[in-house]
This record gives sequence, C-alpha cells and structure tokens, in this order.
Amino acid sequence: MIRGENRRVTRYDVEFVAKTITCNKCGKSADIKEGDYSDLHFKREEFPTIELSFGYGSKWDTERWSFNLCEECLESLVESFAHKPDGYGEDYY
Ligand SMILES: [Zn+2]
Repeated sequence: MIRGENRRVTRYDVEFVAKTITCNKCGKSADIKEGDYSDLHFKREEFPTIELSFGYGSKWDTERWSFNLCEECLESLVESFAHKPDGYGEDYY
C-alpha cells in the first residue's frame, strides 16, 4: 500500500504526496523521498502493485483490490504455485 497525504496546491487542486510504500503481506515498508518521483518509481519496482477487479459471478463482485508485495513475499507466493506464472524466470529481453 502507498500512504501519503493530500496537500492543497491551490484553493481547488489537491496533490497526493506519497510518503511510504508498504508490503501488505509482511509489513516491510520504505520511505519515499519527498517530491522525488524517480525514488517513487524505484520503490514501486521494489514493491510491485497487484490490482484486481471482479465482476458478475465472482465472490467479490463489484470490489476492486490493490496491494503491494515486496520482492521476497512475491517470490514466496509464486514459489508456492503448482504452476509458475508464464514468463517467470525467463529473460523478457
Ligand atoms: Zn513482504
């Protein structure tokens, strides 16, 4: 999860300032350097975001989920799969 604060830029504009990014599974978190978008980008790579939306017929119909996992938790999740994701362990380039 990405936490931060809303900051009023003008009377009507509100800017979201990301402060920390946290692994939803283990709780490990990292601070994001204020206003540093390359640091935010780098931390997003370290804590990939998983987004899911569900539709009619699903147990979670109408819900949308978003969470982050650190590399260790993502790897342990994937290693628990009976069938690994397509592309896992393969060099895309
Ligand atoms: Zn984790």
